[in-house]
Amino acid sequence: MRGADIPPFYAGEIGRQAASLQRQGRRIVAMHFGQPTLGPPPAVVAAAHRAIDTGPNGYVESLELRQRIARHYAETCGLTIPVSRILLTSGASAALVATFTTLFAVGDRIGLARPGYPAYRNSLVALGREPVEIDCGPSRAFRLDPQSLASVDGPLHGLVVASPSNPTGSMLSREQLGALAAACRARGTRLISDEIYHGIAYGSPAVTALECAPDAIVVNSFSKLYRMPGWRLGWLVAPEDCVARFSAHLINFFLTPPSAAQQAAIAAFDDPADLQAAVDGYACNRAMLLAELPAMGLAGIAPPDGAFYFYVDVGHLTQDSLAFCRELLDDTGVAIAPGIDFDPVHGNCFVRLSFAVSTQETVDALALLRPWLLRRRVTA
Ligand code: PLP
Repeated sequence: MRGADIPPFYAGEIGRQAASLQRQGRRIVAMHFGQPTLGPPPAVVAAAHRAIDTGPNGYVESLELRQRIARHYAETCGLTIPVSRILLTSGASAALVATFTTLFAVGDRIGLARPGYPAYRNSLVALGREPVEIDCGPSRAFRLDPQSLASVDGPLHGLVVASPSNPTGSMLSREQLGALAAACRARGTRLISDEIYHGIAYGSPAVTALECAPDAIVVNSFSKLYRMPGWRLGWLVAPEDCVARFSAHLINFFLTPPSAAQQAAIAAFDDPADLQAAVDGYACNRAMLLAELPAMGLAGIAPPDGAFYFYVDVGHLTQDSLAFCRELLDDTGVAIAPGIDFDPVHGNCFVRLSFAVSTQETVDALALLRPWLLRRRVTA
């Protein structure tokens, strides 16, 4: 007996190739991983130094941080969430695994958008739950909706939705999320809302599922808006009647998240201007890419509503997105992620670029991409 075979993150393979080129002295523009290149807010770093000096450095679950998260919901969307419903996790990753094991049995079927974040599908397979991919390609504007849900035959025990989404940055309006939540309720499907990109939007702000689906599981993290991906800290909001089971699963799998990260994250909410300045930088990069990529022959782009990704159709240039990314990296030093991470069916015709980089890196990437893509267009 052995565990299920699941694919790697191909973006990780690109990352290893990039690191090897870097060791050879090559300059790399890293747009393959979804992580802000700007470090955490300065107040977080200062709080982390204090936390390491003074502790506690053991297994802790910071009540103060859970209270601060509750206050965040009150301040940003006027919701009163009891602190008892907020559980700290080692990133959204641990929150997702705990959700899949706490709420679903082996063999249960959980719906996901395709394209979507690969770990939903892969961890469900590893855990013996069945991912049910729902085609949310360009013809559906990369969005899950009640119609696509209705197209799924058979039981559907859960549905994972991410708005903004990875890899497309598509978002659901309040009405769209409400309609999806209602369709889930009618079908007896538990809604899991991955809100990791909340706070990073280029039009209207994202709406939390807590507003329209009180029984939804909400997953969030300090990795994106708060720029703390390596600190391995996130949270989930569970309905009161599931909290004890969630706690049991979380502590058995993961014990507690890093103690210094918890202490430091309390400060992450205190300087909204700092958080917004980073988002303004992403907005500037987004505008630059949106203006320039089509002139390089990359016309198949849906402008992202949120998050910090472009998911780009390169089907006229390649039918093998991993080979395409490897070649691009080797020739130019620009690292991007292959679409096969996000879509096992059509992903060979797509790539994902993260623009959570500096403005200068965006300018550099465009200068490197321009001649390479034009040359490639001629030879394709
Ligand atoms: N969910 C989505 C949609 C993501 O894009 C990511 C990471 O990129 C995660 C969850 C996992 O994030 P973390 O475990 O760093 O909080």
